[in-house]
Amino acid sequence: MPLDYQAILDEINDALRPELGQEGKVADYIPALARVPADRFGIALRTCDGFEAASGDSNEAFSIQSISKLFSLTLALQRVGDQVWDRIGREPSGNPFNSLVQLEREEGVPRNPFINAGAIAVADRLVSATKSHAKTDIVELISSLCGDKVMIDQEVAQSEAANGYRNVAVANFMKSFDKFDNNVAQVLDVYFNQCAIQMSCVQLARAAGFLCRDGGHPYRGKSVVSERQARRLNALMLTCGTYDSAGEFAFLVGLPCKSGVGGGIVAVVPETLSLCVWSPAIDESGNSHLGRKALEMFVARTRLSIF
Ligand code: GLN
Repeated sequence: MPLDYQAILDEINDALRPELGQEGKVADYIPALARVPADRFGIALRTCDGFEAASGDSNEAFSIQSISKLFSLTLALQRVGDQVWDRIGREPSGNPFNSLVQLEREEGVPRNPFINAGAIAVADRLVSATKSHAKTDIVELISSLCGDKVMIDQEVAQSEAANGYRNVAVANFMKSFDKFDNNVAQVLDVYFNQCAIQMSCVQLARAAGFLCRDGGHPYRGKSVVSERQARRLNALMLTCGTYDSAGEFAFLVGLPCKSGVGGGIVAVVPETLSLCVWSPAIDESGNSHLGRKALEMFVARTRLSIF
């Protein structure tokens, strides 16, 4: 029998709503994120053949934060190709997303593109490759992928910049190893703005659609990335997409995922569907507490874990 996705998402929403606000904590390193109400939960999916289902606060826009790292890497693969890997590794870090420790040992080469150092290194490549249009190009790529014009929340972008001491340190540290081509402030402007993009679960489920269809655009005939690049993006999401909880996510959920401290998590079932869940209270690793629980319920109910 085909799965009734709408019923499954409604069931997850009904089961988890009573737990809202009980565990985890809304990110509070900047006021605009600290203000987000903890009692939100949304979930949405889009199948490879374009069927959509959604439940809860699935149309409410939230700060995508580190989920943007998925799209900036996609843009870098389009513009720079495999040269991206000259200065960025592909290993899980096992450390918090904003850590500097491995950067010293590995001489300014970030462990992977989904921790802050890696995404800042990607932004550096993008500034070179886009003739300084990286910010608009990221927004345009995401807008084309989800079919809506997405926006940057200027208040979030400005507070990211005003409070981003660690990210400034990370960028300068990489620069000190000569592993950075552009002006640090210019690159960080791209990074802070991409983190501040606002999207809903429905939009993110659509935008990640190319990852479940071998790189094919969710709406248009053309490819976003090659089949090989899509496979590799999924592999990186599985091993590095949820920071130092990637092992736990693989164990409990078993899907390529990318999370952000805004409480969103994008997940992919290759060849089948892409989905996004959002609930703002996050755990110590920076992953949405109920988001992870929702994904666990989703794979238990659908048996769609890749394992
Ligand atoms: N803006 C956050 C930072 O740079 C993004 C981190 C995240 O979502 N994990 O620290």
